[in-house]
Amino acid sequence: MDSRALAQHLRFYQELGVTGISRDPSWRRRANFRLKPEATEVAGEATHVEAEATPAGNSEDVWLPASAGRTDGDAWLPASAGRLPPGPEEGAESTSIPVQFIRTAEALAAIREDLGDCTRCKLHAQGRKQIVFGVGNPAADIMFVGEAPGADEDTQGIPFVGRAGQLLTKMIEAMGLSRDEVYIANVLKCRPPGNRDPQPDEVAQCEPFLFRQIDSVQPKVIIALGAFAARALLKTQDPISRMRGRVHQYRGVDLIPTFHPSFLLRSPGYKREAWEDLKKALALLGRQPPPASSSQRT
Ligand code: URA
Repeated sequence: MDSRALAQHLRFYQELGVTGISRDPSWRRRANFRLKPEATEVAGEATHVEAEATPAGNSEDVWLPASAGRTDGDAWLPASAGRLPPGPEEGAESTSIPVQFIRTAEALAAIREDLGDCTRCKLHAQGRKQIVFGVGNPAADIMFVGEAPGADEDTQGIPFVGRAGQLLTKMIEAMGLSRDEVYIANVLKCRPPGNRDPQPDEVAQCEPFLFRQIDSVQPKVIIALGAFAARALLKTQDPISRMRGRVHQYRGVDLIPTFHPSFLLRSPGYKREAWEDLKKALALLGRQPPPASSSQRT
């Protein structure tokens, strides 16, 4: 691939929300960047797609229950948790982009193109500013699925950037990951007016696009945020309290339902259980959260 074609590809990914492709070898050994077995590599020049701004933290939305030494449900650590241990390629110099990564990014681009300026359900005429497709690493091992964009997401075109999104970012960071290492999407791609619940006809029109996103990314673990996402994926009406705490299957992929960050903002006492869910997701990948130092404890 010549440098012009590569630059075109990278612009394409940027539009998809792919953040931070870098020649830095550490990028390739990030926790859940994986090279699927069949993949070969494309040689590339030094390349970088400008990273999107990660939402700024909000001190009242701290994440990570301090499981060590604290027993009250409101004890948290801030989200400055360290990186997962380096992978086996540490020190290996590389400037290549895995082919599978490119294929998946292109598959996502095709889904986005099929979505177009969607008018399949009534939400397009009910004040949505833009479609909020999804963001993150096309080759992510972990995919988070939420309900629907809110006002901030509708404005920015990026899922989970409002207050709940800032908490989600901290949850992800507490796992030793960053937003651009996971993939984040919603069941609905458009904001329901006044943030009302999604309606069945809207879900029916929109969820096939989410299913295609999942099929493309092929995460190893899906974390369903809240009852709505878990119900849409598992086709059940169970309450989240009954669904969480167990590993479910979505088309052969492990699925962990947990509380929605918006709920956790309202009911922080449930963060401890949510943290158990996130640790379970890491365990499915054979990983543990990074140790948090006592200075991180709030
Ligand atoms: N809540 C969601 O479910 N999704 C978002 O993107 C933001 C808030």
